[in-house]
Amino acid sequence: MKFLVFTLFLLSYSIFSEGQIQKITSLIYGKSTYPSELLNANDATKTKTILWSFYLIQTGNRNILVDTGFMDKKYISSFQISNYKSPVLLLKNIGLETSQITDIILTHSHFDHIGSSHFFPNAKIYINTKELENFQKSDGFKQFAKVFEVRSFRNQIIKVDVNYYFSPEISIYFSGGHTVGSQFVHIKTGTKEFVITGDECYLARECLDGVGLPNKAAYSVSNNKIFIDKLSEIQKKNNKVEVLTLHDFELVRNSGIPKNGIVLIYELENAK
Ligand SMILES: [Zn+2]
Repeated sequence: MKFLVFTLFLLSYSIFSEGQIQKITSLIYGKSTYPSELLNANDATKTKTILWSFYLIQTGNRNILVDTGFMDKKYISSFQISNYKSPVLLLKNIGLETSQITDIILTHSHFDHIGSSHFFPNAKIYINTKELENFQKSDGFKQFAKVFEVRSFRNQIIKVDVNYYFSPEISIYFSGGHTVGSQFVHIKTGTKEFVITGDECYLARECLDGVGLPNKAAYSVSNNKIFIDKLSEIQKKNNKVEVLTLHDFELVRNSGIPKNGIVLIYELENAK
């Protein structure tokens, strides 16, 4: 009996630790200037430098992307993106093949967030139900139609109505301020909390200061305001929360963009 209890203890411990977040990484695939009037900026600048990035969350048994960047060359020139690196190459720099990505959480369906999702054949895709319906009606969907058909046939499309509890550490919440079904990711590790905002915020500091999206960049300014309030609530509860956006140049303002495009955000102590 004692042995059984001990074995069960070991088993539950190993299941727990396998699911535990070991690493969060920002993958930067380029930078450009962008009109400040389309950002949650609170100064008089006309343009700002922004990053183009997405995130990788690694547990013992899953490689989870939050958004995917894009691979379509026409956007590199139309948005005048410099230092462009393909998202697939960035993952290779980390040591991951496309087949090793297990999950993709999409904050919304704009090209710079969803654009490489068809390169990861085994990944389950988590997207808000209304966001997907809207995306399916858009021109941009044509090149993804086949992929989404196959994924849904394989039950690899997880439609999120409002919120989704991915694991004890990772939750997906509806925000609906930037697009009809935009969502954000709340991560709680043992020592730190993170919010990956999607494009509800472009600039993290401003977001924490209560500066929301301008009309031109919002589907619903009031939903964006609700998100901003929720963020400050999370921050009040735990002032160790780190706000991670997909475009904020401040992330690398002091260090510059590393050659391999990889910025380590979090690593579990004693992670193998
Ligand atoms: Zn974006």
